[in-house]
Amino acid sequence: MQAIYSVIEAWNNGGTETKVYERSLAETGGVRIVMIKQNGRKGLLVEGTGELADALQGEAVQGGSVAAKLCPLTHENRLALNRFLPYTAPRAFGTGISTIGLGDRLGIASPGHIETVRGKDIRPILAQQSIRELNLTGRDYKEVLDAACYAAFQEGYKDGFGADGDHLKVEADIELALGLGFTMLTLDCSEHIDNTIEGLSDADILAKYAQVSPEIRSHYESRYLNRALEAAGTEFVFSPLSLAKNVLIYAKAIDYMEHIFRKYIQTAGREIDFEVSIDETLTPTDPASHFLIAEELYNRGVQLFSMAPRFCGEFQKGIDYIGDVAQFEEELKVHAAIADHFGYKLSIHSGSDKFTVFPMIGVHTKGRFHLKTAGTNWLEAMRVVARTNPDLYRRMHAYAYEHFHEATAYYHVKADLKAIKPLDSVSDAELPDYLNDDDARQMLHITYGVLLQAKDGNGQSLFKDEFFRSMDRNEEAFTEALIGHIGKHIRLLGK
Ligand SMILES: [Zn+2]
Repeated sequence: MQAIYSVIEAWNNGGTETKVYERSLAETGGVRIVMIKQNGRKGLLVEGTGELADALQGEAVQGGSVAAKLCPLTHENRLALNRFLPYTAPRAFGTGISTIGLGDRLGIASPGHIETVRGKDIRPILAQQSIRELNLTGRDYKEVLDAACYAAFQEGYKDGFGADGDHLKVEADIELALGLGFTMLTLDCSEHIDNTIEGLSDADILAKYAQVSPEIRSHYESRYLNRALEAAGTEFVFSPLSLAKNVLIYAKAIDYMEHIFRKYIQTAGREIDFEVSIDETLTPTDPASHFLIAEELYNRGVQLFSMAPRFCGEFQKGIDYIGDVAQFEEELKVHAAIADHFGYKLSIHSGSDKFTVFPMIGVHTKGRFHLKTAGTNWLEAMRVVARTNPDLYRRMHAYAYEHFHEATAYYHVKADLKAIKPLDSVSDAELPDYLNDDDARQMLHITYGVLLQAKDGNGQSLFKDEFFRSMDRNEEAFTEALIGHIGKHIRLLGK
């Protein structure tokens, strides 16, 4: 047996119960390292002498006759791990392979996510948070990335994972995320998209367009006006009105995309998966607008990893697609063909639980897509709580019910709380069924921030500590739940 295991055996024999994450075992430059857990706390057990052992900070420990070092999962130790074991650092993927965003608001879902994608023809973006999510969970980008890197180490996952600064709008946040080593940037252009144009009359649109600077107008007119433009078998014709409308809505956003690309992506000195999102608009993205934005960006030399249009119908949090599936499929075909024509991937946001449309996404993107999920693993965590700690589940459910309106400030959902079965009519054994009910799912889905930040009169957390203790005792159950639920996503997407 390796010396590192005799340390653990000596501890276990001595009554200090130590769990070993076998898949993490790695050896480099004469140093062996493995992830362990004692008393609910994970750490890196390091044995042998060499550069990695020197680089990691921790305390000297003894197990039987073997000397070792036990290192906490700090940010500094994560950076050291990244240097010596490159698979523990995030990477960019380019456009050749499908990717799935698996945002983990809790910092404990990535091991299960890794087990879900392992061996599949798709790569995980394990770290993926928006500023809104960071604020609601009280976490920062360092913690988010640390958790993902340690998960890759814990699971010995060597196929690579990404880190996405999700829905970033301002340059300070972009700089922060890229400075921390994030490998993907999702640029949210919503503040540069003019949502007031859609409601104007044709005459008002043309009048407003007449006020746009002549340089910009002639730039767009010379390229697009009344010309037969074609991409992937679809012809796009821009009349004076439709061109005016697109310029008014999107020209500033296109300039902003180009600016961010030149300033941050081109100069990064490493590969960055650059996504632009135009999905936070009032109306679905017209395929012709998608085409014009892409054509314009590629003419300017901007290259994309992916683009997220807004699709018709509703992509609400945590539930299946709502809308006209046939119409969605027709528009999806064109959006996917445009993305394919330029070479980037179509990106689908709020992608969790959209089981009805997954098969067509897989088919029409020819199996090359980026799909974002974020909160659905939190719901799977709540399912584990419902099964293993019914008392805690009941208290959290009741609190979510009471405080639902606070969360609706951040998320738009259709949940009808009156349709949720009253808690006192439900037995403990039936509690997990709430996670199969759309109204209860959405209620729990959007109240994660409210629940995790809830405090009692003494400033003590109402649920957070107990929730994490409960999840810690049920790590395997959580992994199984994620393999089941996220696994269904991936299967239906054709991977
Ligand atoms: Zn989005």
